[in-house]
Amino acid sequence: MCGIVGAVAERDVAPILLEGLRRLEYRGYDSAGAAVIDEQGTLARCRRVGKVQELADGMVGEPLPGHIGIAHTRWATHGVPSEANAHPHQSDRVAVVHNGIIENHEALRSELQGQGYTFTSETDTEVIAHLTHSYLDAGQPLEQAVRAVIERLEGAYALAVIDRDNPDLLFTARKGSPLVVGVGIGEHFVASDVAALLPVTREFIFLEEGDFALVRR
Ligand code: GLU
Repeated sequence: MCGIVGAVAERDVAPILLEGLRRLEYRGYDSAGAAVIDEQGTLARCRRVGKVQELADGMVGEPLPGHIGIAHTRWATHGVPSEANAHPHQSDRVAVVHNGIIENHEALRSELQGQGYTFTSETDTEVIAHLTHSYLDAGQPLEQAVRAVIERLEGAYALAVIDRDNPDLLFTARKGSPLVVGVGIGEHFVASDVAALLPVTREFIFLEEGDFALVRR
């Protein structure tokens, strides 16, 4: 099992994301990554095969400033451990991290390829990014778009989604994989496990099976 961390804050979230990933290392993983939206509205990402420390080293050269972000440690199920397969997965304005398995990913992939989407990984997860993008492009607000996406997913997931055009909003949902919301003061967090968030909060909301949450600062 691998891990998810997300944060919406008034401060830079990259240190919170990295520390959260370190605290999830015990769960096992083969690669790690993070994506953050900066104050100019740029969505940037850094990913590395190997330890969270490799990602931290990578983020020295490719820093991720910004107040909203998501991060992930991956245990590959679909596609080899590689940088291209590491999360977050992106579709232009949207970034997604996901734990679990999307069983109907092949059908969704064909459908999205038919709409002109190009896939850059072998993962099941990448369909979530492109499907969200397609619903946003059709004019749906982020909440509605991701809710429509999760209705189409078969399988197990904990996921977190951010959108460059909604830089104050983090969408998270769970079905079959654990997820917790960490409540701060003017800043809030999500993670697979409370351990990831203990440096920033001691107050938690445990999502139940099938729950989703919209997290704002
Ligand atoms: N199935 C996804 C992948 O292979 C997520 C694996 C995970 O839970 O880390 O990328």
